[in-house]
Amino acid sequence: MMSAMDIHQRDDLAFPQSLPEFQRLFPDDAACSAYLERARWPDGFACPHCGAVAQPFRIATRPGILECRSCRRQTGLLVGTVMERSHTPLSVWFWAAYLVTSQTPGMSAVQFQRQLGLTRYETAFGILHKLRAGMVRPDQDRIGGRAGEHVEIDETWVGGRTRGEGRGIHHKTLVAAAVEVRRRKSGAAQDKRKDGRYAGRVRLAIADDRSANSLCGFVGSSVMPGSLIVSDDWSGYASLRKRGYDHHAIAECGDPEVAEEFMPIIHLVFSNLKTWLNGIHHGVSAKHLQAYLNEFTFRFNRRFYPFNAFRSLLGIAGNVEAPTFRELYSGEWQHPTYSGCLR
Ligand SMILES: [Zn+2]
Repeated sequence: MMSAMDIHQRDDLAFPQSLPEFQRLFPDDAACSAYLERARWPDGFACPHCGAVAQPFRIATRPGILECRSCRRQTGLLVGTVMERSHTPLSVWFWAAYLVTSQTPGMSAVQFQRQLGLTRYETAFGILHKLRAGMVRPDQDRIGGRAGEHVEIDETWVGGRTRGEGRGIHHKTLVAAAVEVRRRKSGAAQDKRKDGRYAGRVRLAIADDRSANSLCGFVGSSVMPGSLIVSDDWSGYASLRKRGYDHHAIAECGDPEVAEEFMPIIHLVFSNLKTWLNGIHHGVSAKHLQAYLNEFTFRFNRRFYPFNAFRSLLGIAGNVEAPTFRELYSGEWQHPTYSGCLR
């Protein structure tokens, strides 16, 4: 599957910057269909059956179908997208993906149903879950590996408050994180405290414990070998150099502020993550945490690229394995876990 980071902005596939612009770009199913067609054939339709390059026949009542002028065979625009085999109009799917790309995480299927003006709750539920399946599908490529940049690594405890439980510490889960640290070009408006540094891509995974096996295993599956890694001086990270990384350990000396000063970006990520998780309706149980970590990663890594998020959600960029409504209700479908998930 093509990495979402490899999808470049295309002028012929405009991304709406506002609701009125969205309505102007995608007023009806035909407009959505034309968008899908441009996404797949930037240079114009080429029949996958006979290879003919010519304007296809378009069928007004079936906006997802193109018919070749030469061989008369049909090509489905929705094959491989999240909209395949759906009876919901394309314009509703586009609107839904736009909402999910920009919505707060706690939006319920009922709110979603109201926003989309759908009569059936099940339709809203199905759309929302199929789109979210696109977000909890993990990014697989390893981060780092760029000259002049380093990767901050740390772990933190998250969770602890779930529905029906009182105050106190419950079910805290250890989460390991890696984040690319980039630097703004000099001359740009800079955050003085962070010296112009900002976060690139992140990787997050549940860790069983703080052992070298768990933590270095996470690094191995998330970060390109050869990268410069900055972590605290916890013994769990001591073997990173032996494992092929350039490792710089910050001596914390029991003072958490030291780590925060030398690893400001990952602390910012942790802070964002915890705020986001706390904002989710009823909190997040340990069982679903990895799916939420994946969603956070999806949103975080595309925060500068809403266009990529929108296309990834619809599955225009690649194949998205989405559950059917039946699978969701029967519990057959499992949230995909991060490839480097440690359990
Ligand atoms: Zn043909």
